Amino acid sequence: MNILVTGGAGYIGSIVVEELLAQGEEVVVFDNLCYGHRAAVPPQAAFVEGDLSDRAAVRAVFDSYPIEAVMHFASYTLVGESMAHPFRYLGDNVTNGLNLLREAVAHGVRRFILSSTANLFGTPERIPIGEKERIVPGSPYGESKYILERILHWLDRIYDFRYAALRYFNAAGASPTGERGEDHNPETHLIPLVLQVALGQRDKITIFGDDYPTRDGTCVRDYIHVSDLAQAHILALRALDAGSRTYNLGNGQGFTVREVIETCRAVTGHPIPAEVGPRRPGDPAVLIAGSEKIRRELGWRPRYPDLRTIVEHAWEWHRTHPHGYGDRRTPKA
Ligand code: UDP
Repeated sequence: MNILVTGGAGYIGSIVVEELLAQGEEVVVFDNLCYGHRAAVPPQAAFVEGDLSDRAAVRAVFDSYPIEAVMHFASYTLVGESMAHPFRYLGDNVTNGLNLLREAVAHGVRRFILSSTANLFGTPERIPIGEKERIVPGSPYGESKYILERILHWLDRIYDFRYAALRYFNAAGASPTGERGEDHNPETHLIPLVLQVALGQRDKITIFGDDYPTRDGTCVRDYIHVSDLAQAHILALRALDAGSRTYNLGNGQGFTVREVIETCRAVTGHPIPAEVGPRRPGDPAVLIAGSEKIRRELGWRPRYPDLRTIVEHAWEWHRTHPHGYGDRRTPKA
C-alpha cells in the first residue's frame, strides 16, 4: 500500500515509517521539519518537505503519488503550550487537518489514521480510561484532536471514509533498531529530561509536585513503548476496511515520576539528582489508558510493556545520539 505519513520526520511518525517499511509498505513522508528531522526519515521513504497549511503543497503530494491511506501525525502536541497559544491548536491543528482531509477525499483516498490523545478525557473520573469515558478535553490540544475525530465521524457517514483514531499519552522509548528516538527542542518530556541528567547535560531533574494522592505522591502516567504504538497504528490500518474505529491505547500499567527516575538510575548507573518543585498546572494525578478494546478487536499486545525495557531503549538512543539527530557521535563504552 502507498501510505502518506504526515509528521513522518517526528518522533512517533518516523518510527511508524520504519515499521511500515519493514512490513513491505511504500511510504511518502510529508513534514515541514519545524519539529521533525530529515535524518529521522528512513532513506527508503519518499520525502516531501511541506506544510499542511499550504493546500497546494498538500494537493501536489496526492497528485504526485498513488496514495491509498494517510497516517496523520503532524500536529502541535503540547498540552501546556496549547493553554498559552490556543489558536495554534484550535486553529492550525484543525485547519491543517482539514486541508489534508479535503485533499484526501478529493483524491478518492478513504483510509485515515489519526494520532489522537487521552487528553480528550481531561481529568478522567475512572482509571483506567475506557473508550466510553466522558469526553471533556483537558486543553485546546485535546479539543483540537476531538474536533478532528468529529470531522472524521462525518466523513465516514458521508463519504464511506474509514478512519481509526488512536488516543494515547506518554509515548516513550526508542526504536529497537537504535536508529530513531526522541529529539525535541526544547525537551519537555520526563524520560528524555531524566536521561539528559545521566548524560551530564542537566544538573538535576525537577519533580513537578509530590503531594498528589498516589503511592509516592508523584503523578502516575502510562508510558507506552513507541514501537508498540507503531504496531497499533499498523494493525488499525489493516482493519480499516471492516469499519472505522476508535481506540484508547496504553500499556495498562502506570508508573510514578519517582519510579521513572529510579528506573533511569538503575539503567544508566548514574545517581540522577532530583528535587521536588511545584506542581505543573493542568497535570492530573493519574492517567492510565485502558486498551481492552484494541486487544480484543485487533489482537494488539505490547511487546515491550515493562518500564525497564522502555528506558533501556531510550537510553541506548540518547547515549549514542547525545545531541539527537544533529550529532551521531559514538560514545565511549
Ligand atoms: N514531569 C516532571 N518533571 C519534568 C517533566 C515532567 O515531574 O521535568 C512529570 C509531569 O508532571 C508528568 C510526568 O512527568 O506527571 C510526565 O510528563 P511528560 O511531560 O513527559 O508527559 P505528559 O504527561 O505531559 O504527557
